[in-house]
Amino acid sequence: MSENTFCAARRRILANRITVRGFNGGTATNKGENQSAMIREILEYPDPRLRTIAKPVDEVTDDIRTLIDDMFETMYDANGIGLAATQIDVHKQVIVMDLSEDKSEPRVFINPKVEVLDGDLEAMQEGCLSVPGFYEDVKRIEHCRITAKDRNGEEFVLEAEGLLAVCIQHEMDHLNGKLFVDYLSQLKRSRIRKKLEKLHKQSA
Ligand SMILES: [Zn+2]
Repeated sequence: MSENTFCAARRRILANRITVRGFNGGTATNKGENQSAMIREILEYPDPRLRTIAKPVDEVTDDIRTLIDDMFETMYDANGIGLAATQIDVHKQVIVMDLSEDKSEPRVFINPKVEVLDGDLEAMQEGCLSVPGFYEDVKRIEHCRITAKDRNGEEFVLEAEGLLAVCIQHEMDHLNGKLFVDYLSQLKRSRIRKKLEKLHKQSA
């Protein structure tokens, strides 16, 4: 219980700090370390393309590594801590993540699989770059083991708890066409949908 509170709080602090840094240093010409990486458009709920099921990556090629670079660029630019390829309309099983406060822990998960190590569910507040501005509690498995490939195509195994476990489950849901709003009540979900649809109409 205390651990989840810690993670949720840390997450909020993290969001604040990154926002501050974005205001200080984020300019159109200085978007990160990889000069060739591109910021892609992030699909927003209720865009039906977010419901597409991603296909496994057959081989980790240079094209996949370019996709990964673009995903990091896009995620950092949006002050996110995780991004699934689905969210930029690429339907391959690729996830990027960085839970650090200084972009120092980039993680890549290609063709991820999750094994439950402890079936207990804990609620943690979640947000999503595809559902901007909304944060709600979602119950997830606390402790899991992840098997995936890295950007070199090497398989690795990782045990995850807390924020990392929550984040990987959230991102893997994206690969399966699922969003965190699907765990909420019908009423909450339709309220979020209406607000976002209104915003999309205003900005169109
Ligand atoms: Zn998300």
